[in-house]
Amino acid sequence: MSGCLICGSTRYATLFQASDRLYRTTTREFSVVRCVECGLLRLDPQPPPDELRRYYPDSYWFAPGVDAASRLEEAYRRIVLRDHVSFVERALRSSRAAGPLLDVGCGGGLFLGLMRARGFRVAGLDFSREAAAIAWTRQQVPAVCAMLENPPFRPQSLAGVTMFHVLEHLYDPRVYLARVYDLLAPDGRIIVQVPNAASWQSRLLGRSWNGMDVPRHLFDFRSRDLEKLLESCGFEIVRRKFFSLRDNPAGLASSLTPSLDPMARRVRGIAEAPTMRLFKDLIYFALVVGSLPFAIAEAAFRAGSTVMIEARRP
Ligand SMILES: [Zn+2]
Repeated sequence: MSGCLICGSTRYATLFQASDRLYRTTTREFSVVRCVECGLLRLDPQPPPDELRRYYPDSYWFAPGVDAASRLEEAYRRIVLRDHVSFVERALRSSRAAGPLLDVGCGGGLFLGLMRARGFRVAGLDFSREAAAIAWTRQQVPAVCAMLENPPFRPQSLAGVTMFHVLEHLYDPRVYLARVYDLLAPDGRIIVQVPNAASWQSRLLGRSWNGMDVPRHLFDFRSRDLEKLLESCGFEIVRRKFFSLRDNPAGLASSLTPSLDPMARRVRGIAEAPTMRLFKDLIYFALVVGSLPFAIAEAAFRAGSTVMIEARRP
């Protein structure tokens, strides 16, 4: 890494060493460092692409099954997506730009399916062919397997672009943001969500905070870092939201008990009898519900464990 993504400084201090706490794809330790000039946190050195790929589990997105438990999980996921849906809906309705909404990193397409049901034209991109196929077949959302570096869209043809939990995974987030700028019509909106490294959860839990997600998160943004980054790419900040019903309480629950996280259990291939699976799911759900008051409180002080920002392309 030549320098800090935000300020360019090459001076940094090491905060701590950590390994893959959630999915346990490796036992290797990585360094999280803080830029001495601007305070941005990052993984340094970054693992090269061939190595980083090994730290991504195969089924990193949600693929609903047909059994009762899966249907229940999909119903739950629809409910907890409401913050994302209402935030993006307000952004699009307040914009004069015409065109579809593109979700970068669309996974199984549940969010886009909900936006489509609200009358928006939608499209999805995902680097996983399987995820894009699930978005098509399960949510009837047009999704393609592609990277934003080579998007199958014309310049200035989109009304909105969403990127939920994408930027912190990229080697160079500026490349993506520049591409989004080109794709958005004037007055179009970009909505970005990342874990907030200035949250109460982050400050209290440090390296145990789920939002660090070592080694998959190459950057750990605070809200102000993300705002600086967006502005340096030509966007104007419109709104911020520090609460997400889907992410914030569950993030605390998974920080406290990573081995109960449902996605981690699935990804790690933990063998569980159906009764044990249900039992663990219920304990985890109780932890999520118990985490809700804390998540609401930190968000009220603008220190929620995720931040969602709407920015406008002039
Ligand atoms: Zn810096």
